[in-house]
Amino acid sequence: MITVNENFLKLQAGYLFPEINRRVAAFARTHPEASIIKMGIGDVTEPLAPAVVEAMHRAVDEMGKRDTLRGYGPEQGYAFLREAVVQNCYYSRGVNIEPDEVFISDGSKCDTGNLQEIFGLDNVVAVTDPVYPVYVDTNVMAGRTGAWDKTRGQYAGIVYMPCTAENGFVPELPDKPVDMIYLCYPNNPTGAVATVEQLKKWVDYARENKAIILYDAAYEAFITDGNIPHSIYEVDGARDVAIEFRSFSKTAGFTGVRCAYVVVPHSLKAGQKEGSSVDLHPIWSRRHCTKFNGASYISQAGAAAVYTEQGKKQIQEVIDLYMGNAAVMREALGKLGYAVYGGQNAPYIWVKTRNGMSSWEFFDLLLQKTHVVCTPGAGFGAAGEGYVRFSAFNLPDRVIEAMDRITKL
Ligand code: PLP
Repeated sequence: MITVNENFLKLQAGYLFPEINRRVAAFARTHPEASIIKMGIGDVTEPLAPAVVEAMHRAVDEMGKRDTLRGYGPEQGYAFLREAVVQNCYYSRGVNIEPDEVFISDGSKCDTGNLQEIFGLDNVVAVTDPVYPVYVDTNVMAGRTGAWDKTRGQYAGIVYMPCTAENGFVPELPDKPVDMIYLCYPNNPTGAVATVEQLKKWVDYARENKAIILYDAAYEAFITDGNIPHSIYEVDGARDVAIEFRSFSKTAGFTGVRCAYVVVPHSLKAGQKEGSSVDLHPIWSRRHCTKFNGASYISQAGAAAVYTEQGKKQIQEVIDLYMGNAAVMREALGKLGYAVYGGQNAPYIWVKTRNGMSSWEFFDLLLQKTHVVCTPGAGFGAAGEGYVRFSAFNLPDRVIEAMDRITKL
């Protein structure tokens, strides 16, 4: 009889967003008159920038003519986009990344989930707590995480690194050796950022322990503080130990278009059982080209337009709008006496509940009394208990309305 990959049976139900939807739907059924304001899920609300729309229209027209149509493109992405990426995201910040170190894809969810495939199953995985769940679940599927420990509410084989208000939501170095270290800054869900000095500790750790950092910079475009690094490669020595993920999803409203990239430097190495080491770049290239046939030409043409003069300006206007929302939320919730984190260099606000209220109790109270939906922090990990996340992706007048309702309550 065919057998199942039993690692999949170890997955804990991804119950956060389905459970939120269930509670919101139940509330809407009994309160059909309520105008519900959703500040839970992090999806964009502003349309694509006009420069992107024009570039995509042009690309569609090209595809509609025999002379200019594009069939299969390079699996790693078109040179025009890889070059625009290194010029605008790396050279411009004094970082040397070569175009052929950039692999274009159809999203960071896939990239962050797929990359673990090139590492041995005996590696120890370290994640922050709270965490973007994809890092954990894809390692569970691969069989790298051990059994679910009910009492801790965590996988026995994973090293969870608590991110708390005390450590500024940037984890301490682990007290036991780890090999694959997932870091995400600006962070989802806490909205925290990491300084060069904080990241340097991790780069040094990875160099000393021959570990790899998997750095998710999906929200780098929201950084407003000039001292905060946008890339792990702004830290000395990171090229030898870090892989970086970037996405056009939140930067340019591409959640429904799909385009992202991962940077795998030529200098990265990993060991073999017999002791010698191998280059990771050709291995990822082999993996990527075998399982992926390239992001759509239309998406890549749209993504390249993000780097035109018009594109940059238009995208910044949208980011400013979201960050304006974040400022409104920070101010309103702060005035009410809540401890409010994030929202200054990230589109997420992380709010501590009061009087020992749990994340879900706070969620229910807000839904019932103000018809505002947030995301319970406990859904991102044990250390998220007692927090909720508000997303700044919304229409400004809805954000003002939501904050008014919460203030009145
Ligand atoms: N990484 C983080 C931290 C995210 O929050 C998200 C989406 O919410 C992603 C990656 C996924 O991005 P993409 O839309 O490119 O798949």
